[in-house]
Amino acid sequence: MLAGQRVEVETPHPRAAAKGIVERLDGRTLESVEAVGKNLLLRFEGGLVLRSHLRMTGRWRVGKKGAARTGRPWLVLRGAEHEAVLWNGPVLELHRGGGRLRRLGPDILAQPPDLDAMLERLRHADQARHVGDAMLDQQLVSGIGNMWKAETLWDARLSPWRPLAEVTDEELRAVLQSAHRLMSGSVGGARPLRRIYRRAGRACPRCGTPIRSHPQGDDARIAYWCATCQAGGGDVAAPA
Ligand SMILES: [Zn+2]
Repeated sequence: MLAGQRVEVETPHPRAAAKGIVERLDGRTLESVEAVGKNLLLRFEGGLVLRSHLRMTGRWRVGKKGAARTGRPWLVLRGAEHEAVLWNGPVLELHRGGGRLRRLGPDILAQPPDLDAMLERLRHADQARHVGDAMLDQQLVSGIGNMWKAETLWDARLSPWRPLAEVTDEELRAVLQSAHRLMSGSVGGARPLRRIYRRAGRACPRCGTPIRSHPQGDDARIAYWCATCQAGGGDVAAPA
């Protein structure tokens, strides 16, 4: 509805405002809108691409320009007559050029998820990478965020610090299946039950060992794990 128009851009939500999107997109022409799995790719003039992934909670609403609303949406794109409003957009990334985006990994929320294709990508990645780091790489598998990484690995009893080389295909499949099951189960439902995410120092619900946390990967996102029931050999690589 807004494609082809020059749009005004606002990011009322503070977490979205911190991304510098308004500064780079406001006043540009929105050239096209493309859905790839649960990703929405908004291409703007000048080769800028905004990727939004709705996960479980995100919603786009298109309506008349200037309609009343309460709350702070992540993003508002306003054209001549209509506006598109993104609520609860946990993933909102601005990219230059579409090359990297065309290589997005298979979507974990697809029905059914393409586990073979995910496995193939994970096996073509650097096998020295930790499984917890690889799970967040959107070029390998798209759609898994930091919370679901922690909850999924705990569910599958696998340490985030195990190198891919030391994780069998069966284990990887089990992790991906677990991610799909847990994430699909929470779609449209109540707030997901968090077992270990942001619970560092508290007792593991399965074995009582205090949950540990430490930054992981290039983006230094915090990993949470239980060193007792998620050990599985690779835990020697985990920081003390
Ligand atoms: Zn435990």
